[in-house]
Amino acid sequence: MKMEKNPKKSLMYYIIIGFLLIFVFNAVISPMIRNQQIKSTSYSYFLEQIDAGNVSEVEIQDQQIFFVADDEDGSKQIYSTGKMDDPNLTERMYNSESEIAFTSVYEESDPLLDFFFSWILPIVLLMVIWNVFMKGMNKRMSNMPNAMSFGKNNAKIYVKSQTGKTFSDVAGQDEAKEALVEIVDFLHNPQKYAEIGANLPKGALLVGPPGTGKTLLAQAVAGEANVPFFSISGSEFVEMFVGMGAAKVRDLFKQANEKAPCIVFIDEIDTIGKKRDGNIGGNDEREQTLNQLLTEMDGFDGKKGVVILAATNRPESLDPALLRPGRFDRRIPAELPDLGGREAILKVHACKVKTEKYIDYNAIARATAGASGAELANIINEAALRAVRNGRKAVSQSDLEESVEVVIAGYQRKNAVISPKEKEIIAYHEIGHALVAAKQQNSAPVHKITIIPRTSGALGYTMQVDQEDKVLISREEALARIATLTGGRSAEELIFNTCTTGASNDIEQATKLARAMVTRYGMSSSFDMMALETVTNQYLGGDASLACSSETAAKIDEEVNALIKNAHEKAVRILSENMDKLHELAHYLLEKETITGEEFMNILNEVHV
Ligand code: ADP
Ligand code: MG
Ligand code: ZN
Repeated sequence: MKMEKNPKKSLMYYIIIGFLLIFVFNAVISPMIRNQQIKSTSYSYFLEQIDAGNVSEVEIQDQQIFFVADDEDGSKQIYSTGKMDDPNLTERMYNSESEIAFTSVYEESDPLLDFFFSWILPIVLLMVIWNVFMKGMNKRMSNMPNAMSFGKNNAKIYVKSQTGKTFSDVAGQDEAKEALVEIVDFLHNPQKYAEIGANLPKGALLVGPPGTGKTLLAQAVAGEANVPFFSISGSEFVEMFVGMGAAKVRDLFKQANEKAPCIVFIDEIDTIGKKRDGNIGGNDEREQTLNQLLTEMDGFDGKKGVVILAATNRPESLDPALLRPGRFDRRIPAELPDLGGREAILKVHACKVKTEKYIDYNAIARATAGASGAELANIINEAALRAVRNGRKAVSQSDLEESVEVVIAGYQRKNAVISPKEKEIIAYHEIGHALVAAKQQNSAPVHKITIIPRTSGALGYTMQVDQEDKVLISREEALARIATLTGGRSAEELIFNTCTTGASNDIEQATKLARAMVTRYGMSSSFDMMALETVTNQYLGGDASLACSSETAAKIDEEVNALIKNAHEKAVRILSENMDKLHELAHYLLEKETITGEEFMNILNEVHV
């Protein structure tokens, strides 16, 4: 069934257009068709033709005279002319050389034909136009999914072969896999669980930052479970019409119940599962959909074997009713991968491309702390693209290293024009960072320093790579990090006696860290273990909102400033103590543009005699 946005209105519209068309047709076109063979002519021409003996038939009406005369080329032609008060006409006709018949020349058009022309034809035409129009409309509508299909759910049904993904495609995420393996096992041998009397969780919620493999995990479950797998995205429930989303949920669960045992996967469930707020007249459609989902999840029998999986990266925004035991009673975290996880993910994806024999994946994994699975997959792909670009047949270690930087900082801007003076400032700035980092106890080793500009806007950067994964950051490490961040600006101040905009990103990061130290980690001197900020969006950027009075907020700012100031002074001190090394390293970097951590340490540890 088709439906218009506003059916009544558009129907009226078409009726009006239809009548207009019919009117135009009757007034203009049909007389043209019908009268084309009757020529009107003058009375004198009529008389001439009678005299010449060309007229064969005449019909005299009240107003008009119709007659048939031979044309020049000998064919018969109907003419019309006005009627005159002409008493001689009859005599004239008698005297004509030809015999004139008085018949009805002008045929009153056939009423059937008339009806056909004035009504049937326009209506048929109209319908043709309508059809063409509707087809175009449907085509456009089909790009807007489901606007027209009344609440039919269109969850894709996956069976094993179709996703082609298995648990072996998911690297790391061992805890998540374990939890899901249990669910798969239940669907395969329900009696094993029934004997003990264990109930399977009805629903499991996959939570974690974007790109950690939540969707991938669900697809792997589909691949392994060997049962029907319904996959639908939360946004697909959001409909143009109120009530459609709820109807879709109903339909989805009806199908799932018929196909049990099976798995229903709702991706990005936060779209429909948001907390219902107290506002009257809030988002009715969404709430109805959510209510329907809650009802359906209660409604089905846990033993039957319908398992609901859902994924979201905003678990805190979900309605509490959705999270209570009996609905999504199991929460499966998909966290950012640790060092081992990153290495495993890199290897899984590297299998899909040709690589050189010896690749140190561990080194790449160490350089990518904080990267998600999706980013790691992207790094492998970028490396493969680079290998092709350089005309090589296999991905090399350097491809991977370069692509890490591409993903972190963008492509190299080879032809960016930077004046020698600025280049010098940038070199000192970066060496400033590296020197301050190297001369502190609690700082990660320098891995690479470069002053080749990148498309992200970075003019150069210093990469530090920890030997192993860190789960905790100590106060000393945080302070060392802030000092390192201020090192760039400190070098500018010491050498050029000025400061540049190049430090803006450093300032941002230093402030963020110092702020977190004060407000969230309780690492400042004037506040005790007091939470001054709460994180609102844990997995999406981690925005924080202040939870204190404005006086305290002012104090926080002071505290943050003091932390950074101390660190800045420390950085300046370190650099002044190592002034000759600073010059030497900066000139070396200026010449080479990119140096490794090793080169850096060699020069730093060189003793001049
Ligand atoms: P999200 O958690 O945002 O749903 P996806 O599951 O869509 O993330 O992951 C995106 C891509 O990242 C996957 O297709 C896969 O290529 C890669 N990926 C993410 N995590 C992993 C992982 N643990 N193992 C292998 N590949 C992964
Ligand atoms: Mg996803
Ligand atoms: Zn900097």
